[in-house]
Amino acid sequence: MAQYVVGHAERVRAIEAELERLPGLFLAGNAYSGIGISDCARTGRAAAERALALLAR
Ligand SMILES: Cc1cc2nc3c(=O)[nH]c(=O)nc-3n(C[C@H](O)[C@H](O)[C@H](O)COP(=O)(O)OP(=O)(O)OC[C@H]3O[C@@H](n4cnc5c(N)ncnc54)[C@H](O)[C@@H]3O)c2cc1C
Repeated sequence: MAQYVVGHAERVRAIEAELERLPGLFLAGNAYSGIGISDCARTGRAAAERALALLAR
């Protein structure tokens, strides 16, 4: 289970910026924006929606 340290939000923003350059790579799970099951479901759903949107293009 992820243990966030100081600077986590900034690192996640940097990762998200890098993802803009890597179409087809989607991240989800407790390492990014919340460790609870509901957070993981939220990021999983968002990643799936981004993947579907890419496939639809
Ligand atoms: C003891 C404990 C109690 C908890 N209790 C609660 C609670 O009461 N309520 C709550 O909201 N949250 C709780 N949590 C937190 C929550 O369960 C986790 O944060 C959440 O399940 C993490 O989901 P995830 O999808 O990010 O990771 P995971 O559920 O760990 O899923 C990662 C998956 O990737 C697989 N995997 C790993 N490496 C590879 C690889 N190289 N190739 C292929 N597959 C791989 C693993 O087998 C696993 O299936 C608890 C966590 C723990 C440890």
